[in-house]
Amino acid sequence: MQPFDSYADLLTCIQDNGHTPQILGRAPDGQPIVAVKSGGDKTPAIFISAGSHATEQAGVSAACALIDEIETEHQLYTIPSRDPIGMNGLAYALGLSLDEAPNLGGLDDVAPLLRKRGEVLYEEGDTVVALIGEYGYATSNLYNHPVGDWIEALKGRRLYFAASNPGVERAYTLIIDPAGEVLHLNRFHDTPWAPVESRCTRDLMAAIQPGLTLDLHEHGGDFFWFSARHQRTPSDQEREERMADAMIAAVAASGAALPPADYLPGSFFTRGLHGVFWLNAAQRGEGLNLADFAAHTYGPAFTIETGMALSFADRVHASKLAAKKAVEVFAERHAGCPSATP
Ligand SMILES: [Zn+2]
Repeated sequence: MQPFDSYADLLTCIQDNGHTPQILGRAPDGQPIVAVKSGGDKTPAIFISAGSHATEQAGVSAACALIDEIETEHQLYTIPSRDPIGMNGLAYALGLSLDEAPNLGGLDDVAPLLRKRGEVLYEEGDTVVALIGEYGYATSNLYNHPVGDWIEALKGRRLYFAASNPGVERAYTLIIDPAGEVLHLNRFHDTPWAPVESRCTRDLMAAIQPGLTLDLHEHGGDFFWFSARHQRTPSDQEREERMADAMIAAVAASGAALPPADYLPGSFFTRGLHGVFWLNAAQRGEGLNLADFAAHTYGPAFTIETGMALSFADRVHASKLAAKKAVEVFAERHAGCPSATP
């Protein structure tokens, strides 16, 4: 099993599988940001999303497969890739500002190109940040990186860089908000100012009122975990806990590696069952990510994380397994209930 080469390949795959995607909006380069409806007619709807971080392609492939593999009476809406530009890679992202996409052999080619073709805003050690056309580009990740006055030129803009894994074949999209905070596409779900990708997501959610939201991600390690969200009501909290228990049990039973016992993804998480971490968005700051926003506004939500050091097939498999188990528990709870009014 291989990741999609490009966003166009993903769209072709969806169409080849007989789906007509709904266009929610367009990324700044004009590519459509799409949702696919599958499943049945029952509400509440289920919402699956992936690819807000374009380096995390197992989630994208898993989401695409889940469109057809999840058997449910509930409406299933999937946004398989929330960052069409990033999915097409760093050369493509650079091509939006240059006459054409440059030939990039690897990460080492990026700094010389930025110096030659861009207005260098910042350079320190191996880190080069340049403005070319409308967009910023960098040699490395600036999220959580100290910034100076040079960030002024990037306020309200996008900034693309390639991570060492998988390399220049994907671009990670950073969003510099109008105040100069360096964030990314899994933010801005609760802010008036938001990039189009985040607005598409929250518009769809407002329309479908999802009763279960799953956002598929990856991290740099070699194990599986996921993050749960504290719920607004005791009954939703109980449901979230029941789904969490079932998801991690299913993944553990499959033989997938779970985190070391002392692992914590960040200071703003608390441990649940082994492999389950409760994310506290208020402690983290930066506003709400997709799953935070879903829990805050709609109900049960999880971020699923597979380890990028594992094989692609294993990552896709673990992601799908967790999602299917969540949907199964969700559907049991609604069995026999008439559709809720969305
Ligand atoms: Zn991610």
